Amino acid sequence: MFPRICFRVQSPGLVFQTRLPIPSKGPFRAVLKRASTKLSLDRNSPPFVARARGYHDVSLFDPAAGMGTAVGFAGGARMLYFRTHPSSCSHDHTSARTTPAHPRYRILARSLAHRSITMSTENITIIGAGVIGATTAYYLTRHPKYDLSKYKIRVIEATEVAAGASGKAGGLLALDWHGPSTANLGELSYNLHKQLADEHGGFEKWGYRALTTMSISTSFKPRRTANLPPGLDWVNEKGLEKASLLGTEETTAQVHPYKFTNEMMRLAREKGVELIMGKVTDVKDGSVTYVSKDTNEEKTLDSTQTIVTAGPWTPKILKEAPISATRAHSITIRPKKPVSAHALFTSMTLSSGKTVAPELYARPDEVYVCGEGDHLTSIPETADKVEVIQSRCDDLVKQAGELSSRLKEGEVLACQACYLPVMERGMGGPMVGAVPGRKGVWVAAGHSCWGISLSAGTGKVLSEMILDGEAKSCDVGMLDPSEVL
Ligand SMILES: Cc1cc2nc3c(=O)[nH]c(=O)nc-3n(C[C@H](O)[C@H](O)[C@H](O)COP(=O)(O)OP(=O)(O)OC[C@H]3O[C@@H](n4cnc5c(N)ncnc54)[C@H](O)[C@@H]3O)c2cc1C
Repeated sequence: MFPRICFRVQSPGLVFQTRLPIPSKGPFRAVLKRASTKLSLDRNSPPFVARARGYHDVSLFDPAAGMGTAVGFAGGARMLYFRTHPSSCSHDHTSARTTPAHPRYRILARSLAHRSITMSTENITIIGAGVIGATTAYYLTRHPKYDLSKYKIRVIEATEVAAGASGKAGGLLALDWHGPSTANLGELSYNLHKQLADEHGGFEKWGYRALTTMSISTSFKPRRTANLPPGLDWVNEKGLEKASLLGTEETTAQVHPYKFTNEMMRLAREKGVELIMGKVTDVKDGSVTYVSKDTNEEKTLDSTQTIVTAGPWTPKILKEAPISATRAHSITIRPKKPVSAHALFTSMTLSSGKTVAPELYARPDEVYVCGEGDHLTSIPETADKVEVIQSRCDDLVKQAGELSSRLKEGEVLACQACYLPVMERGMGGPMVGAVPGRKGVWVAAGHSCWGISLSAGTGKVLSEMILDGEAKSCDVGMLDPSEVL
């Protein structure tokens, strides 16, 4: 017995349904040719999802899930016409009121991540204005198919733009430090960050600059001594045991993440994106419900394409998302004199004998210092309720002072904490793509400690998936949510 696949096409003046017998193995293309259809499918692995360029409203049903369970929507069929040869279909349930002919009848089967937006799409909703939501909004509005009269893009944010880790991260960007699942995206994103800075004045507006990245080991009682690397002017030479190069100005750079995220949002809004302040409470296929921050009223919006970019809060919206939250504290210090452009990954043996590993990123006007993560408290409902433990910040101030007398004399500007979105399954990369089994629901979350670096690339490929039907700028197949959901 062959499993069956059911195509149903509905549009004004056209109701057409048929079931085609297909073998469980072997290319669909051959099967469909044998069935004398005008369709051609280029992939034979389930789930059975089709994409029809230039047509409207084609749905496919997964035989394994039972007839009538929609597993995908794609393309358009206003003019779609297809026909099966009666002898090839043992249970032919064809019923056609009208079958308008069209010279092209091409359907491409693709994975769920490659579902394309239909011609009738109007509302795109992005949930969360962190760096991923903001860059997605930006790239949607810069996509060649974006048309203000056709697409209404909304970003719904519970607290404020960059309220979470996107406003409190270090902002290091790396070209080639990424594992196999994010290597392509990492490179694309690194190059896009440079393009964005060139195009929109990122050097001034969000502190984009190339920098040198080093690994530094220090000890209260050093067993060996090392010289300060040339150019690094703000680390004490006394106590330095080892210094080695991790990244050059060609391979590492930085942004101020809060400024970058806010500027991406501003540029998106300039092109018509609406920012709504409210907390999303429910996402259905086709609608989003949120509670307004100003009025506390519950509202539901039509949303043909909904993109969940809620970082570590993503599982509160998509229960099945395997993302956990790790809290991390950070401080910023304004040194008395400007310091050289270096990012430092440290290992410091303190006078207490304890070894700590703060990371320090010099910015044009301050130095950012962050410490290790903790799981002492679970993530609060909203980013403004994140608990900051003062003693953790004090520890970072002391560690920075031990490493650098320039920082010891400096002024502490910020003492903060935020939650990192950590993937619990998969290859270590984030999820970027369509949520399996849902219609028009997408997710881009779980970027762990690389969300700022990967943000531009993530926004770019998501905009392509949604408006072109596939990621064109780079292959992100290993980040397909169906791998982990
Ligand atoms: C200490 C630290 C240092 C880091 N340093 C770096 C670095 O140097 N380089 C790097 O590349 N990455 C770094 N990261 C990682 C990076 O910060 C994150 O990966 C990235 O910010 C995640 O962005 P996001 O947009 O997915 O999530 P978030 O920034 O968490 O944004 C999610 C947004 O969604 C909103 N939201 C949540 N729930 C809802 C809801 N129900 N309705 C509406 N809105 C909602 C939140 O308010 C928030 O604004 C660092 C992280 C930490 C913690």
